[in-house]
Amino acid sequence: MSNCNNCTTKYSDYFSDELYTWCTACGNYGIHAAVKRALVAENVAPKDTLLCFDVGCHGNGSDKIGGYAVHGLHGRIIAFASGAAMANQNIEVIAFGGDGGTLSEGIGHLVHAVRSNYNMTFILHNNRNYGLTTGQASTTTPQDTPMHASPDGVTATVINPVDFVLSLEPTFVARSFSGYVPHMTEVIRAGMRHTGFSFIEILQDCPTYNKATPHEWYMERVYDVTKDSHYDRFSLADARRVASISNDKIATGVLFQNLNKKDFLSKQLNRKAYTTQLVDEVQKSSVDEFTQAFR
Ligand code: SF4
Ligand code: MG
Repeated sequence: MSNCNNCTTKYSDYFSDELYTWCTACGNYGIHAAVKRALVAENVAPKDTLLCFDVGCHGNGSDKIGGYAVHGLHGRIIAFASGAAMANQNIEVIAFGGDGGTLSEGIGHLVHAVRSNYNMTFILHNNRNYGLTTGQASTTTPQDTPMHASPDGVTATVINPVDFVLSLEPTFVARSFSGYVPHMTEVIRAGMRHTGFSFIEILQDCPTYNKATPHEWYMERVYDVTKDSHYDRFSLADARRVASISNDKIATGVLFQNLNKKDFLSKQLNRKAYTTQLVDEVQKSSVDEFTQAFR
């Protein structure tokens, strides 16, 4: 599976003894497989990995995969993960959030992570509903779709996550579909290699509650726009042109990348002289020094 000759990380290194609890044919299975494959292909050992899970169906996979893992508060995982990524840049930090938590109470964290350009990867599990709480409408549920707690549908307009993030001057935006593990793997690998905030939307199958756009609906529409030689992934205009999720087709792949904007820590002038990691510096300090004056 690995593309490098000296790779020592194996797929089995990321196995867990815990049993999955997701519904049959849930897209989370494919996403977990792709994340493991990406980590192995990039030769990142579990000891060097921090996987940060928000609350939601996807979050219930936090103990079903190897590596260090955190299961956070609803909508707040980006804040936690960005702090961890800054504390130790030698760790591969990947955070996961659902459309519910990320685009409602967590949307402020998403906005500021994109504009700050924290060096981490964020994977949005967009199953277009609150699956863990039995299928309520989220900000990505198609308008007027009957859902639990809103049998007549919700009238509020839908947020397109890719279009929204593209409006924030991001440095990496990608989209994939949970039905294509090899494609997700390559997109996640590209996100991991990018220095800055990598936003990856995965259109995720939820056969239990997302009846409006089921697996077959996606299969008929998704295509990799980057296979088109005229598509320029460094062009924001190109990305915005293909961002919409229409009834005809849905563009996937690395839709946009900006290699000219530095990540957050690289821009901090007061860090220029440091070769150490923040986490090491904290360990050398004693809180006592700072509290002496108040004793
Ligand atoms: Fe997956 Fe949907 Fe079941 Fe949640 S409710 S485990 S997202 S299929
Ligand atoms: Mg959801």
